[in-house]
Amino acid sequence: MSVWKGIDVSRPIAALAGQVAKDDVPHAWLFAGPSGSGKRPAAAAMAAALNCPVEPNVGCGTCSSCLRILRHRHPDVHHVVPEGPLIPVATIREQVIPEAYRSPFEGRRKVFVIEEAERMNPEAQNALLKTLEEPQPDTIFILVSDREEELLDTVRSRCRRIVLEPVPESRVVELLESEGAAAGDALLSARLSDGDIELARALAFDGPTRERRQLWLSIPRRMASPVEALDAAAEIAAEAKEAVKARERSQKAEVEELAEAMGEGRGTASVRNALLKRHKRELRRLEEEVLGESLYALAAYFRDILALRSGGSEAVANTDILAELQPWADADVSDAALVRAIQRCIETRTALTTNANAALALEAALVEVATLVPPASRVGV
Ligand SMILES: [Zn+2]
Repeated sequence: MSVWKGIDVSRPIAALAGQVAKDDVPHAWLFAGPSGSGKRPAAAAMAAALNCPVEPNVGCGTCSSCLRILRHRHPDVHHVVPEGPLIPVATIREQVIPEAYRSPFEGRRKVFVIEEAERMNPEAQNALLKTLEEPQPDTIFILVSDREEELLDTVRSRCRRIVLEPVPESRVVELLESEGAAAGDALLSARLSDGDIELARALAFDGPTRERRQLWLSIPRRMASPVEALDAAAEIAAEAKEAVKARERSQKAEVEELAEAMGEGRGTASVRNALLKRHKRELRRLEEEVLGESLYALAAYFRDILALRSGGSEAVANTDILAELQPWADADVSDAALVRAIQRCIETRTALTTNANAALALEAALVEVATLVPPASRVGV
């Protein structure tokens, strides 16, 4: 068992693990590569390896330090996530810089993982730059980004760059099977996740994610009118709220665990404050993610119908509902309407992060999709 287990050991990851093992660790890193290529798990694994007391710089993956870091519950590993569309300069000034100049609380290295780092506005990037230029010996920054071109050159040039790739389908299947997924489930999850190993794991093993998928898949056949489309949008919004409630419960446990681990003393209050702020942002983001998940599932559903039409059940992602998809493929709905519906879902999903009223955006999208692609049973075969 090691902290790198469960991450696809591609060449960049092997090189990274090797560098960490040799303690060749510059203080600023950029983990680049498309969404789902495993950048965040790699950052967590690196933070764990750097702090593991059992196997220093390797990461045993089983000690309390490793486990807490991998679960994002360690006082020396800070995750900075966007607040709405941005990581504002205030976040860098208030939560990152002062903390970066404190020595580690219990570990050997203080690690800041800045997720979606390109969402730092230029002011935030410049504020961070100063800290990157005058590093503390025990502090490591990992900038994670799938749009690294949006980072300032001055910031990028300070970082050691690692580029990760999406994991090939066959490799995702292998990983999921080695973790206990049944063969059919592993293939389905791999295909639906398109090389995103975190998503594939959630689809294979996470109860709520699997239940939500069943709900998303039931939506197309129910959207025969704008009213039904609005009902579906309301159901999706309710699911997102439900996921937020569940996360709130686990956050509460996290706060208690942290209080127990730290006791009262030096730096406790600032760590606790940072954690509470992160939790708030996480909840907002989770809601967005669940709404996005439904749109992604709908897009995949319509894409599968097109795939079946062009004769390729091989290219279908939702392999477990082929029988349900076939009548849609035979129905009197044009390819152009399907393509437009897919585009509408994907555009709306992308816009969720910048949209002040996500619920309205979702409703508008579903009403249009219901008009474009009425249920197969209503259109006739
Ligand atoms: Zn360990």
